[in-house]
Formats: sequence, structure tokens, C-alpha cells
Amino acid sequence: MRHSEFALNTLKEVPSEAEIVSHQLMLRAGLIKRLASGLFTWMPIGVRVLRKVEAIVREEMNRAGALELLMPAVQPAELWQESGRWDQYGPLLLRMSDRHEREFCFGPTHEEVITDIARKELRSYKQLPVNYYQIQTKFRDEIRPRFGVMRSREFIMKDAYSFDLDEDGVISSYEKMYDAYVRIFERLGLKFRVVIADSGEIGGNRSQEFHVLADSGEDAIAYCDADDYASNVEMAATPEPEGEPAAPAQEMQTIDTPGVKTIEALAELLGVRSDQTLKTLIVDGDDGPVALVLRGDHELNAVKAQKLDGVASPLNMADPGTVFKATGSEPGFAGPVGLAIPVFFDHATATMSDFVVGANEKDKHHTGVNFGRDLPAPDTVDLRNVVEGDPTPGGGGTLQIARGIEVGHIFQLGDKYSQAMGAKVLDADGKERVMQMGCYGIGITRIVGAAIEQNHDENGIIWPDALTPFDVSIVPINMHKSDAVREAAESLYRELTNMGYEVLLDDRDARPGFKFADCELLGIPHRLVVSDRNLKNDELEYRHRRDSESATLKREDALKKLNGSRIS
Ligand code: ATP
Ligand code: MG
Repeated sequence: MRHSEFALNTLKEVPSEAEIVSHQLMLRAGLIKRLASGLFTWMPIGVRVLRKVEAIVREEMNRAGALELLMPAVQPAELWQESGRWDQYGPLLLRMSDRHEREFCFGPTHEEVITDIARKELRSYKQLPVNYYQIQTKFRDEIRPRFGVMRSREFIMKDAYSFDLDEDGVISSYEKMYDAYVRIFERLGLKFRVVIADSGEIGGNRSQEFHVLADSGEDAIAYCDADDYASNVEMAATPEPEGEPAAPAQEMQTIDTPGVKTIEALAELLGVRSDQTLKTLIVDGDDGPVALVLRGDHELNAVKAQKLDGVASPLNMADPGTVFKATGSEPGFAGPVGLAIPVFFDHATATMSDFVVGANEKDKHHTGVNFGRDLPAPDTVDLRNVVEGDPTPGGGGTLQIARGIEVGHIFQLGDKYSQAMGAKVLDADGKERVMQMGCYGIGITRIVGAAIEQNHDENGIIWPDALTPFDVSIVPINMHKSDAVREAAESLYRELTNMGYEVLLDDRDARPGFKFADCELLGIPHRLVVSDRNLKNDELEYRHRRDSESATLKREDALKKLNGSRIS
């Protein structure tokens, strides 16, 4: 590609709308343009990267025996009513009606459509297993679209759905996908980690996520420093309490805490540590509000809480009116003593003594509170997020926390959709059996952002070889004045292109410094500079994007540097 024919616009300034570096660099390098909130156009250079991701994903899916199809983005409401998700899915689902006032949605995922295909196409166990996949556009009306293509509203996903006769079958289909995902992310050249995941909205049993590790990641990942345990913090279990609380040393007292509404302010006022306090959160329940009680320094885990019997899912904090009715006070002063609604205590509270709680009265707290005396000894549950240093489930080490970007997700769905929608086949005995399903997603567009989060420096992107829009850039110096440079650059361009490299020839009439800055911003791995000075000695200046300096090499040696990085 000649730069002069590529209509590429780069930006020097950091766009103010972009919070994280990958979003900034994608805008600056001209990969994407924003159309509206959470909607982006992929520009020609961006599409080159996107196609690389797709090609690797497609190759590995095909290698794993999956069959590519392409489903419509727009889906009829009836299918979603059959699965029960028309009512459950909530505002993430973009709903619309056609000219006949029939209802549709823009698919956020395709379980319903594929289950409809499967129930019509698959008749006999002899046709199984089948794994259908597509690379296709989804829409989710995200509450906070941000970080560019990492959390957009419209995005491209690879979604696959497997159909098996029985449980053993689905386990084997799942494992095939696991292996394919490992190969995909290895080939993409990304540092990633597989973690235990919540199966969330989609429902089902076993589920793992693939995370690209990056400080800007929206997810927290807990991993063990001694074994291979790794889990999304959403799912990481905390240990059950061991031992008894110390004997009470204080009497329970009610004290004034005017205007103190946070644990930090409370701890400061009383001169205690926050782990000597309890916080009581009032949330909506199935039959009226429910209290969740945690140690003051711990964070509530919504995914765990919303799975408790009687707690509303998705978790929702009770409104001030409900809190007032339940506790007799405005929010900020709730506490478990004398509370007449169901209360769940977190495991970590079990061994506490002489602690501080809200007094269910405005501007008042109780101190010196003890289980077995002021409160019944609780049956505790797992309610909090794990923290660094917590013991691991295997018991062999302690937990560390890292940030990750979810780029892939694999689920064993079981028969949730096939049962609801009657997707059955005949087994070897001629009996009807409901098929077992798995589903497997990869965020194609999100991967591009995630790759940049992991591969950049202050000057721009540093593409992994597998993703780069071009392998080599040729920067001629003074091409518009020197025929020798022009000829050498053109012949190098032809030669490399014929060898199968993707080459960007910067044939613009611009200063070298300007061209070099663009090269760094675009993140092309190899740069070859052609100049009159070096041509005299049959030399080129070579620099890898990760090198700190360029090297003047014989033409032949410079070309050798490119070997091995070609994608063909
Ligand atoms: P998240 O927790 O990030 O909202 P999810 O768990 O809801 O994602 P899945 O239903 O598992 O997403 O979708 C499969 C993959 O699609 C995700 O692993 C992710 O890579 C990608 N993805 C999901 N939502 C978005 C989005 N809003 N923008 C870009 N990619 C997305
Ligand atoms: Mg997911």
C-alpha cells in the first residue's frame, strides 16, 4: 500500500473523549472513528487488523471442527418469549417493531436463533456432535459504553454453540473449545489467563473466561501464587470462618456519630480500624428488603449476593424509603441489632468481637457489640470480594489480584435453551432426547483494544506480528528530490510485496521526522529507511518497533531481519 493512496489520517493530540490508552491510540492511529455513543466505524487500517483477528479465530474454529454459518442480527421476539428471556433480559436488549408492529430485537447473543436452527436441522444422535459458529455483529445497549471498542454498544463477536446428546458429549465439546481458545490467544501473541467465571445472564453450569491481562481491565482476577487456581473475583470463594470470636471485653453502648455515613468517617471518629466495624446494606428481596452485613473494610460481591435465597437478582440497593421502613432510619445508620428483616452475615464477621454497628437511628452507632450476647451467633455466608492475601481454595497459597479484559467466554449451558425450546433428537433406542448445549464467545473487536493495552509505549502502538496492519514500512528520505531514492524505494516495495509482506510505502512529500512519528504511532513492527547516503554503500537503515535505535545494515542483512515475521 502506498501511503499517498491510503487516505490515512493520524492525530497528534490525545483526543479528550478517550480515557484509556488503547482508545486514544486507536483514534490517533486512525483505526476507528466514533459515530455516536458506543458506535464506531472501522477505518481501512483498522479493518486490516480486525481481519487478522477474524482469520485466526476462523482458522482455529474450523480446525476444531466447528461449522461456520451466519445468522441474522435482527431476531423475532417470539423466540425470546419461548426461552423466557424477552422479559428477563432488561434494558441491554434493543427492542424494535416492524411496519406490521411485530416485535423484534437486535441480537445481543444468539442462543435462541441457534436453538431454533438446531431443533429444525438436527433429528438424530447420528448427526451429533455439531458446533455451529459465526462471526457477526451484536448490539447491547450498555449502560456505560466506554473505552472505545472495548465496551461499545455495537461490536463483533465470534459466537459458537455446540449440540450433544449427553453430558459427556458437552464436556468434550467444551474441552475442544477450551483448547481452540488457548491456541487462538497464543497465536494472537497476547498474555492471557483463563479464569473460573460466573455464568451470568446466559445461565448454565461450568464456565471459564479468557482474560487479557492489563491494568486498565474492568475485571479483577484472583489467582494463587502457589498453584494454577485463577478466578474472576466475581466468583472467587472466601473461606468459611475458623475458630470462635474472642470473649466480649466491652459493654454495648450507643454513641453519637453525627453526620457519619461512611465506614472511613466512622473509624476515624471512633479511633478504631475499619475491620472492627460492620457495614449493613439494605437490598431488595423477593418478599421485602433484606440486610447484608459485611466487615467494614470488605466489599460486597453482587454476583454472590444475588444468588442468595430471597435476594433479588440482579442485586439492587433498596431505596431510602424502603431503608427507612426497614430500619427506622435514613441510609447510613443501619445495623443488625434489633433488625426485623432477614439478615445475611458474611463469613468474615463470624470471629469478630467488640465491634461497631449502625444503631438504626439517625446519627447513632453501637460500640462493643458481640455475637452470642447482643446478637445471635450467625450462620454466615460468602458475601464479599476476596482480597489480596486471602487463602486460596486449594489451601496451598495466598491470593493475588490482577486486572483483566474479558476477551473470551466458554459455557456449558446444559439444556436450558434446548429444554425450553424443545430441541430434541432421537437416540440409538429411537427415544427423544433433549440436546445438551455449550456456547462459546470471543470479542473480536474488543481483542484489538486489548492487544493495544498490552502492547504500546509513549509513542504509539507496538503490534504483535499476528495483528499488525502492515509488516514493514518503507520510509524514503527525499524521495521527491532524489531519483535514486525513489527507484530504490519502489523496487524494495515491489520486492517485499512479491515476497508476501504487507508493506506500507510512505511516499508522501513530508519531513522524515513526521513520517517516523507516524510509523511509531501506527506500530508497524519493521521500518526500513532508504536514503541517498546509505544507498551508496548498498545499505538500509533498519529498526524494529521495539528497538531503541536503528541499525545501518547491508540491504541483504536488513531484509533478513524481516524473516519469520511474515504472515502469508
Ligand atoms: P462483559 O462482562 O464484559 O459485559 P459479557 O460477559 O456480558 O461481557 P459475553 O456474553 O460473555 O459478554 O460475550 C462474549 C464476549 O463478547 C465477551 O467475552 C467480550 O469479549 C465480548 N463483549 C461483550 N460485551 C461487549 C461489549 N459491550 N463491547 C465489546 N465486546 C463485548
Ligand atoms: Mg462473559
